[in-house]
Order: sequence, then C-alpha cells, then structure tokens
Amino acid sequence: MKIKTMICGFKNKFLWLLSLFYYKRCYLCGKKGFYLCSDCESRLEVVASSGCFFCSRPLISENRVCTYCRDRSYSFDKQKSLFLYSGLVRELIFQYKFNRKIYLADFFARSLAVEIEKNYSCFDWIVPLPSVQKIFYRRKHVTRIVKLLEKKYKLKVLYLFSSTTRRSQKSLDYIQRLDNLRGKIHLKKEFPGLKGSSVLLVDDIFTTGASSEECANLLLKNGVGKVEVLTLALD
Ligand SMILES: [Zn+2]
Ligand SMILES: [Zn+2]
Repeated sequence: MKIKTMICGFKNKFLWLLSLFYYKRCYLCGKKGFYLCSDCESRLEVVASSGCFFCSRPLISENRVCTYCRDRSYSFDKQKSLFLYSGLVRELIFQYKFNRKIYLADFFARSLAVEIEKNYSCFDWIVPLPSVQKIFYRRKHVTRIVKLLEKKYKLKVLYLFSSTTRRSQKSLDYIQRLDNLRGKIHLKKEFPGLKGSSVLLVDDIFTTGASSEECANLLLKNGVGKVEVLTLALD
C-alpha cells in the first residue's frame, strides 16, 4: 500500500513537472492551457454573499446569523468560504489532497488571491492554519497553496503555528474538537510584528470552525488586533 502510494505520488509529481515544461490541461474537461478552464470554473458552486454574517453558511429562514452560529461566540470577526464543499469542488479538493493532483494548488491559490486582493488587501498578514492530520503528505496541502500566495502573488505570509495533536477530528463535534485542540496549537516563536496587526487565517475547508477559533484565540492573546478567516470551501 505504501509503495503504491509512493508510485502514485511520483507519477503525479512527474505529470506536474511535465506540465510546467510542456502544457497544462484542465483537470475536468481536458482543455489545453489551464489546470481548470474558465468554463469548468463557472460550474463550481460558489457561496452566496447573502449568507450568515459570521460563517457565510447559506441562510434559510434566519435573519443575518445562522442557527449554527447563533449560540456561539468566536474570537475571529467572521469567516468566508469561496465555494460550497459539494459536487465538483469536493471532487477537486479530494483529488488535490488525497490523490496528489498537486497542480490543482495553482487554481486554489489563484481563487484565494483574487478574493484577498478584492476584499482583504488591508490585512497585514496571511497565516495558514496548522494541519492536525496524521499522514505526512496531507500536512502540506494548505502550505503548498499558501506558498503560491507568497511567491506568485507576493502576499505577506507568516507561518506561525505548529500543532502537536494528530488525533483525527472527523468524528468530533465543535466542543469535542475545541477540547482536542486546546493547548495543542502553538506559536512557533515570538513575532514582534504581530502586536496590533490584522491577520487573515487561511485554510482549505471550514467545517465546525474549531481550528479557526483556537488559532484566533491564541493570536488575540498574543496581541493581534483583528482576525478573520478565509477558506476555499464550506462544509
Ligand atoms: Zn475545463
Ligand atoms: Zn453562521
């Protein structure tokens, strides 16, 4: 199983390298010149701007704040997701994270960069959330996207967090996740530039918001003035 995974990894890395020198192809329709062409991109389900003020979940009959957020208080001001975690978006993220289609990082980074330029350009720092997953290659998937934000789109990125928990969060609810994360996420070192600054936390999927909450809380305790969250997909 391990050897099969390694071979698959080498194959995808080789195809990605090949695509740099030869050509790109849209992952969904095969059109040349793109990792994801504009036609396929327009088929992705985006999150409506009329959603919950705090978490951007679509509202049904609620007014401004969804039932999920109504009884909660967050350390971050609000979180926004670009896409709904379903259909093609779910497939793209799955392929990127678990089937090593690492060239899709290019599309994810571009989507985030466009949004940051449009609505978050006043933020001082972009900070990736730490991964709390077990398998080594899964830990790099957000970092890879954020490195593109830094290198290709010249955004100011800080890699602040390390995590010492490796327990899967999948089956846990919000409170259990908070308990699981408490004291397990740390700032790597002192960053004097953080005091009074504004930080945009970036992650791939927003599920319960527990990781965002723990990190935002830690940042505020260390003098950060304002924290918001931006994610690719809303689960
Ligand atoms: Zn396409
Ligand atoms: Zn909400």
